[in-house]
Amino acid sequence: MERVYLDNNATTIVDPLVKEAMEPFYCQIYGNPNSLHSFGTETHPYLRLATDRIYAGIKANDEDDVLITSCATESNNAVFMSVYYSIIKDRRKNRIITTQVEHPSVTNPLKFLEKLGVEVVYLPVNSDGIVTKEMVKEYLDPDKTALVSIMWVNNETGLIFPVREIGILCKEKDVLFHSDATQAIGKIPVNVDETFVDYLSFSAHKFHGPKGVGGLYIRKGTPFVPFFHGGEQMGGKRAGTINVPGFVGMGVAMELAVNNLEYEKTKVAKLRDKLEDAILSIKDTRVIGKRELRVPNTILASFRGIEGEAMIWDLNKNGIAASTGSACSSESLEPNPVFVAMDIERELAHTGVRFSLSRYTTEEEIDYTIKVLRESVERLRSISSTY
Ligand code: PMP
Repeated sequence: MERVYLDNNATTIVDPLVKEAMEPFYCQIYGNPNSLHSFGTETHPYLRLATDRIYAGIKANDEDDVLITSCATESNNAVFMSVYYSIIKDRRKNRIITTQVEHPSVTNPLKFLEKLGVEVVYLPVNSDGIVTKEMVKEYLDPDKTALVSIMWVNNETGLIFPVREIGILCKEKDVLFHSDATQAIGKIPVNVDETFVDYLSFSAHKFHGPKGVGGLYIRKGTPFVPFFHGGEQMGGKRAGTINVPGFVGMGVAMELAVNNLEYEKTKVAKLRDKLEDAILSIKDTRVIGKRELRVPNTILASFRGIEGEAMIWDLNKNGIAASTGSACSSESLEPNPVFVAMDIERELAHTGVRFSLSRYTTEEEIDYTIKVLRESVERLRSISSTY
């Protein structure tokens, strides 16, 4: 066994079919789609196909917009700035409701908006690790609330939030609803129609597409103020020459993601369960979040007496890539915000290790990981001062 990649919530391998589909757009079909000559116009059918695949993947309607962005971080920022300039700035409504466990690409722009005077309510998660419709409702005064932003799936725990229930509530109260679906696409069905989201963010590299391209769904009629100003691309809603290979690749990746949902639900879940059962069979371990509330690929485990960082290094020495949580905050030694929000920080301080699988994970890889993990836990606990 050479290397095992179990950090698919950080990023995924590009599907070879995606790479193949992107290839012609570097040296053959390289025109600017906005050019009037044939080099430009010959890209159009491919962009239309990619658009169709993306709309079909999230069940968007033809009249809705899907902006092609550079990543989910851009999409999230674009939503908050748009809501700020279209609704909050003139103080019609000044509140945004979110959770304490969002990705930094949600939390940090919201902290920035707080400095501009916006009231941001960070809901803590309940003992299941999610927020419920009732918890949102408590703060959802329609006269004050400009936006509710709740992630579809948490990147660290893999817990699925009740997006549809919250979407219905927001619709009833006539409050805009955004969901960061970066960790949901390719793992569970994502349907913007059924869930009443007004804005939805996603990123291709989390579902076997290329890095540097993402999407922002905007429901028809939803206010939107551009984040990027410049040329007239995307109807003036997102200026800048489009990343053609990335867009084409994201289209194929989206289609493959949807076609493989059943595989995720059965085969990936089975491998995840095997690894999870093995972890739980080790003394003094814990997995965060009920299995039935999680996407099929994620395990956030804690091994009492072992620092998450120590475990990651030990696994890495044996060729296994796991993570202490979000790759975007892995350089900080701050306590895991999910543990803090779930009120289990004192018990589990710094011991979280995330294993995230994909449709490329094999049973041999899981068997090897289980073997290494058992040895690793024994070795690290034998030298631990807290076990
Ligand atoms: N939201 C969530 C839930 C994520 O997991 C990530 C990536 N870790 C992002 C947003 C940001 O994605 P990107 O780095 O592609 O902008």
